[in-house]
Amino acid sequence: MRKPLVIGNWKMNGSAARVDTLLAELAASDSQPAGVDIVVCPPFVYIQQVAGLASGSSLAWGGQNCAAQSDGAYTGEVSAAMLHDMGCTYAIIGHSERRALFADSDAAVAQKFARLAEQGIKPVLCVGESLEQREADQTLAVIGKQLDAVLTANSLQKWRDAVLAYEPVWAIGTGKTATPAQAQEVHAFIRQRLAQNDAELAQQTRILYGGSVKAGNAAELFGQQDIDGGLIGGASLVADDFLAICKAASE
Ligand code: PEP
Repeated sequence: MRKPLVIGNWKMNGSAARVDTLLAELAASDSQPAGVDIVVCPPFVYIQQVAGLASGSSLAWGGQNCAAQSDGAYTGEVSAAMLHDMGCTYAIIGHSERRALFADSDAAVAQKFARLAEQGIKPVLCVGESLEQREADQTLAVIGKQLDAVLTANSLQKWRDAVLAYEPVWAIGTGKTATPAQAQEVHAFIRQRLAQNDAELAQQTRILYGGSVKAGNAAELFGQQDIDGGLIGGASLVADDFLAICKAASE
């Protein structure tokens, strides 16, 4: 059985004071529902603060990105080894904002995947189509290409702890959510694609849905056979909303 997983992506939001408040609410011993893995991904500069506040609780933390290179002259970058130093157990890669705004290519995402796996950090590989691609009936082709780029560049050994996140670009931060049936179709496709490489890997890999998940729509999405939890943006910045989504995943 795959244990549900909910990851909060804070994006470039917050302040030291806000981190204190949010973590006090999220890491309180009685606030986290059982039976679900919960992770928060703050901006890099707050990771150490989050680690201090969350250690001892069942809350885990991770990065929103990492460098494609191991170390060296890459001003402004943060390596997988540095994330490991900060106790990160997950890191998001290939988020559509990184792909669209910072030119993260499929090849770069595949390298980031490798760097994380080398450090024992679980890569959270995001894939998703734009509205234009969906309307042109290219959704599965786009997702297949994004997935294959990482599959061909990384041995199955590196995939053991990986997490997939299907995030239709048109649903991120827009208030438009994929219907449970639309999301399930893509999740089933992803699992089948993994199964072509390794049936056991496909069965054990958690595939999250992301894109305007809220407390009100989470249960129906998470009720789909191949949806194992969520990658949550906006709603992860409000403790009550995020915990309600986590609760929906635990049921
Ligand atoms: C995200 O940032 O990955 C995301 C899914 O954002 P939102 O939940 O705000 O749509």
